[in-house]
Amino acid sequence: MKVLVIGGGGREHAIVWALSRSARVTEVVCAPGNAGISQKCVQNSDRPVRCVPIDTGDLAALLRVVQAERPELTVVGPELPLSLGLVDKLMRLGFRVFGPTQAAARLETSKSFAKEFMQRHSIPTAAHAVCTSLADVRQELPRFSVPIVVKADGLAAGKGVVICQSHLKAEQTAAQMFSGTLLGVAETYVVLEEFLQGEELSFFALCDGKHAVALAAAQDHKRVGEGDTGPNTGGMGAYTGDGLLNATMERWLLKNVAQRVVDEMALEGTPFHGILFCGMMMVPQRDGTTLPMVLEFNARFGDPETQAILVRLQTDIVDIFDAAIDGSANKLTIQMQPGASVCVIAASEGYPGKYPSGLPISGLDSVHDPDTVVFHSGTAAKDGAIVTAGGRVLGVTAVSGPSSSASPSALQDALSKAYGALNGISFDGMQFRRDIGWRALRDGL
Ligand code: AMP
Repeated sequence: MKVLVIGGGGREHAIVWALSRSARVTEVVCAPGNAGISQKCVQNSDRPVRCVPIDTGDLAALLRVVQAERPELTVVGPELPLSLGLVDKLMRLGFRVFGPTQAAARLETSKSFAKEFMQRHSIPTAAHAVCTSLADVRQELPRFSVPIVVKADGLAAGKGVVICQSHLKAEQTAAQMFSGTLLGVAETYVVLEEFLQGEELSFFALCDGKHAVALAAAQDHKRVGEGDTGPNTGGMGAYTGDGLLNATMERWLLKNVAQRVVDEMALEGTPFHGILFCGMMMVPQRDGTTLPMVLEFNARFGDPETQAILVRLQTDIVDIFDAAIDGSANKLTIQMQPGASVCVIAASEGYPGKYPSGLPISGLDSVHDPDTVVFHSGTAAKDGAIVTAGGRVLGVTAVSGPSSSASPSALQDALSKAYGALNGISFDGMQFRRDIGWRALRDGL
């Protein structure tokens, strides 16, 4: 089977890597891909992988690539083409495609839609107000105590959430979102939200329009600095582990969040097929229990969690995509390698602010451990060398070995492999966090 993957980051590299291991795949094309994807990205795999240049925000160009390549399956990685309705268009043209329709992707592409959907269907989430003007904001603000979370409605690449320590700051932030000075796009809706305290957890469910099944749980590290300090980024690392989510909590999240989303989206006429990423805040209650509340939904695989999840996936990834498209996720058994995995992001100096590009990367061929994979996020090929071409450059990802499947040594094993590999890789100004997984190590998960 020929498979086309849309996107060009670490998530897509991990998807292409998993596809290259599938017995059902004969050829993979990635648009646009990156320097890591265009190399032979799986040792001992003879599946050809090819990249074709494309702007993932150009719907007409994306359609042209699909029509030229005629893949038997298209997998849409990033949110932008989902928001443009690529899946709807491809389905109408008769192509098989993995990902939600434009209407179903609103769970991610519109925070006001997602909040009102959750409110309509009693899905636990923070109290909120959707505002359409500054006058609205001024009227609603007294209902909220500080800190107040101010969210832009639309896609903002991780920059659309501001936690404000005063009502005045919240009002100013909302004003900048409405005017477009904060994000470069003028927002029609701004969401005010109650601030929740707790630990964050990413829960991934595979959805087929009728059923939601658990894929994996992960924790990511959004802040640039160690100890979760400094500005938010697209993600500096993530880990998964058997101890992260117990069976009772997994059942709770499926029943009260993921399956309810799938049921209600179907009833509203917009069935959800694809990966539902539930960004949860696990809020401790006075009686010692934990109430999981939804912070956000994503309508796709997250980055860098995907890299950490897919290195543990034992089920053929094409079976996963097929089940989501065909409505048979309830019949699928998803097998993960027991233990833990970790993805550590190597980023450019200055990221998430301004950063240089075009710097040569050395040591990429120094990684020989079969449990470690270096996924490329922002790289390019230049004069025969691989150079930096983004804020997040590499996702060094490792899985624990079978002998250390018990927690927390499994996580420690994965961490020592990833950091060991990072020791041999360098580019000018390379920065990475040395404390990925610190919460799980502290809690002995
Ligand atoms: P979101 O894009 O909505 O997930 O927000 C990005 C990050 O902002 C989350 O991962 C949280 O760290 C933080 N955040 C969002 N909403 C809230 C909230 N209601 N309370 C506390 N932190 C939040």
